Amino acid sequence: MKAAHRQIPALRERLALGGDRVTLRVVPQHPRLTPDPVEVSVNAPLFAGPIGPDLAVFDYNRERDRLLPPATPSRRGTFPDYDLDDPRFHQLNAYAIAARAIDLAESELGRLLSWGFEANRLIVLPHAGYLANAFYDEDTHSLQFFSFRQPDGTIYHTSVIHDIVAHETGHALLDAVRDRYTEGNHRETPAIHEAIGDLTAVFAAFSHQIVRERFLASAGEDLRGPNEVATIAEEFETSSSGALALRDLAVNPRPSSFRSVTDPHLLSVQLSAAIWEALIRIYEVNRTRGDLPEPAFRLARTALQRMVVRALDYLPPADVTFVDFALAMYRADRFANQDARGYRPVLARALAERGVIERASDIEDESDATPAWPGRPPSWPRITQAEAYVFLDANRQRLALSTQARYRDFVVRDLYVTSRPPSHVEIDEVILTYEYPIDIELDARRFGSLGGYWLPIWGGGTLVFDRDGRLRHRADKPVTRERVREALDFLRSVAATSLVRMDQTAEDRFRVGGARAAYVAAIAGDRLSLRSNPAVRCGSRPPIGGAAP
Ligand SMILES: [Zn+2]
Repeated sequence: MKAAHRQIPALRERLALGGDRVTLRVVPQHPRLTPDPVEVSVNAPLFAGPIGPDLAVFDYNRERDRLLPPATPSRRGTFPDYDLDDPRFHQLNAYAIAARAIDLAESELGRLLSWGFEANRLIVLPHAGYLANAFYDEDTHSLQFFSFRQPDGTIYHTSVIHDIVAHETGHALLDAVRDRYTEGNHRETPAIHEAIGDLTAVFAAFSHQIVRERFLASAGEDLRGPNEVATIAEEFETSSSGALALRDLAVNPRPSSFRSVTDPHLLSVQLSAAIWEALIRIYEVNRTRGDLPEPAFRLARTALQRMVVRALDYLPPADVTFVDFALAMYRADRFANQDARGYRPVLARALAERGVIERASDIEDESDATPAWPGRPPSWPRITQAEAYVFLDANRQRLALSTQARYRDFVVRDLYVTSRPPSHVEIDEVILTYEYPIDIELDARRFGSLGGYWLPIWGGGTLVFDRDGRLRHRADKPVTRERVREALDFLRSVAATSLVRMDQTAEDRFRVGGARAAYVAAIAGDRLSLRSNPAVRCGSRPPIGGAAP
């Protein structure tokens, strides 16, 4: 295993603090709204495909069993200006949007990410086949973008749509940070996956000046007017299947309308719309301070984007909830920013008003890091995974190993150090996650044909230490009676309406892909894990109007 701290110089190189870049062109929002591509830069060199350090575009159309010719760089490493209709433009467009989202996440987190699957590169299929859909599939390590015919006869390629490419990349990025979140024993976990997808789309869109200008021009002085950024993947609405609809983050649904929602897309809007609201209010704070609209907005976007991305490292290893996420945003920002303008209380109030948390005071914690835990290895903060285990083992009683703490074993799931932007020189934090499974047998009376299988509930936690070993944040996930009960209730509620069962056969995988159920009971031996179904993760869904009052 690579030593975590050696990644810091590699990160500096990656973020091109001195490295080589290559210019590519992307459609900044949507071919109908912003038809002229804009130039962006990504890490060089790229090979034909394009293929880069984290991403490999492989333009294979499964239905036609055909490989399309790849975009190919000149000897100087630059790519031709392909026509917008040329599949090679779609390859470069999807590549560049995904690569920029990765750059942003790595820069804000201050560390290199490795994917949530066993491979170095995420495969991008810009023309995967014919369907009104696009999704991230961790089993095949791929982002799959499909094409479909619109009512007017034109073919719509999802790999050209900025929102869709960024949204799917957001799923892959969250999976890279916390790869248990595609399993979900809590309804808010897959909803957070969707919210991260949508927020990645929003922030990626706002990285383009033309999108910011159009937004400020159309949304009005207070930014509450109609706009085309808060609506995610709007063009899906016109798909002939009628199965796909938009999400609008500028809505203000009653918190109570989410109470019994289990569909991840619908539920995600509770969180992402609250964060959108925080964006508008932070902008208002800046305007009150005398900033002109453009800088006021740019500052608000940068601050909130930082809060959302940095929160990811402060999340627990499994079954993340909205409260966990809200607290992570607040605490990560507490150690990253002075907050001279009071953005954090503004965020907390928006989250409370929208029912993401009960009260703002639930997350408003401005306290400093707490004293170092005993038993830190002398090599701190440059510790190895083995040293991390010994350190945690010496602190068993402090960890959330409720019963039989002495005997329960755990693994150090992740160990990384971070270095703060923009310079990424000093080690800022040491982050450890540890976990253990508790298997619960499903009883046949309650679970019918799922009876007899064992459902793993993951316990553990995330510990964020500063470079001197003081504890900044801990996100605990003990396996409590309450959590077990909630997990079983959740499994039962989705088993009745939106669960499809999948064993480890090829036909089953195929069948699941065609099924419209939001959840999959993935069965391996006598174990069953509840996962969100990637094929509908971003696809078929009722319009968000359904959740609004
Ligand atoms: Zn999605």
